[in-house]
Amino acid sequence: RTVGETILETDNLVKKFGQFTATDRINLTVERGEFRSIIGPNGAGKTTLFNLITGALPATDGAVYFDGEDITTLSPSERVRRGIGRSFQISNIFGGLTVRENIRLASQSIDRDRYNFVESLFKPTDRYDQMNERTDRILERIGLEDVADETADALPYGDKRRLEIGVVLATEPELVLFDEPTAGMSVEETQATIELIEEVLVDQTLLLIEHDIELVMELSDRITVLNRGEILAEGTPDEIAADGDVQDAYLGG
Ligand code: ADP
Repeated sequence: RTVGETILETDNLVKKFGQFTATDRINLTVERGEFRSIIGPNGAGKTTLFNLITGALPATDGAVYFDGEDITTLSPSERVRRGIGRSFQISNIFGGLTVRENIRLASQSIDRDRYNFVESLFKPTDRYDQMNERTDRILERIGLEDVADETADALPYGDKRRLEIGVVLATEPELVLFDEPTAGMSVEETQATIELIEEVLVDQTLLLIEHDIELVMELSDRITVLNRGEILAEGTPDEIAADGDVQDAYLGG
């Protein structure tokens, strides 16, 4: 992973639900290529912050910049097309479709080839071949070539996780947000899933909400700690581990 210029920036981002302020003037800056984890107690505003970045929720105030452009008012699908991918706790997979069909469907959903539309009318096979090649590349990347024609529902647990990552990858993201991808998993499954994310999404910038602090400490480049809608601390795992405020508010002293 090589860390580069700023890919994501929030400027005094505020979200209110009625009188309640869920995120309070959040200034978050994420560098390209970074593995950033967001931690904090329940209700700290982590998921709300993610929803503001993906466009699932409109901001009350402030702005979100991605690749240097103001995306604050763009729709979620427009943000996906710009390169913001998201993996949900709830699965993105269609169980009745095959592995290959799931990947293909996700590839098509971004419709990056819109500007080639006229061309594609005259050369439809080219477009078809391109889509198949892309699907094959992703299947290889996630190691599911051999089960490409199996129904997603029939996959063992670990392969399902691989497919979910493949579905995200198929939207060609630059930045991927994971909101507790390991919820409900055993320690071993959690470790394997996060390592898989790191391995497959090596070219992407990653934003992760994760409860397993040990894992967060082990894998993150930087950690942002939220508390009551505000950034309480930010830094490398070593800096966070040594931060007295964080220990008081979150790690329990
Ligand atoms: P976290 O992900 O850190 O657990 P959330 O972002 O889910 O925190 O929630 C932050 C706070 O905002 C919580 O107190 C939660 O009850 C409140 N909240 C979240 N979504 C809504 C909503 N749609 N309406 C009202 N309050 C909400």
